[in-house]
Amino acid sequence: MDDINVFLAHAVELEREAARRYEELAESMHADRNLEVEKFFRQMAAYSRKHLALAMERGGFHRLPALAAEEYSWPDGVSPEQFEWIGVDSMMDVHSALTLALDGERRGHAFYAGIAGTSGDPEVQAMAREFAAEESEHVAVLEKWITRYAA
Ligand code: ZN
Repeated sequence: MDDINVFLAHAVELEREAARRYEELAESMHADRNLEVEKFFRQMAAYSRKHLALAMERGGFHRLPALAAEEYSWPDGVSPEQFEWIGVDSMMDVHSALTLALDGERRGHAFYAGIAGTSGDPEVQAMAREFAAEESEHVAVLEKWITRYAA
């Protein structure tokens, strides 16, 4: 992926999906009366929205950049659409919710790290590396929460 705008369009999609997923997970924790984890998920949703806004700004997008379906090139297992069928169960327990969130962060990391390693464009490489670093921080935070809630 050598076009910065194509890269940013992918980043926007991924972050939008991540924010939506965290909002659903927060709702599910609300139903579960786990206010601590609900608050954490809402904060993560806010980070994703911020990241989304940053990607929009860097891309100079004023509206969500919708590529045609064939213009997106998601590596196996990373596409946001593929994520949807996993779905968030409203009766999900805290461990499953945290595991689902971790899975999402790992996919995000894999996507950005993959682009950083394969793009021929230095600007795309640098930005993908930056996004990958942020995702690996999220992975580490999720792993800590999972340890905390390990039964
Ligand atoms: Zn993340």
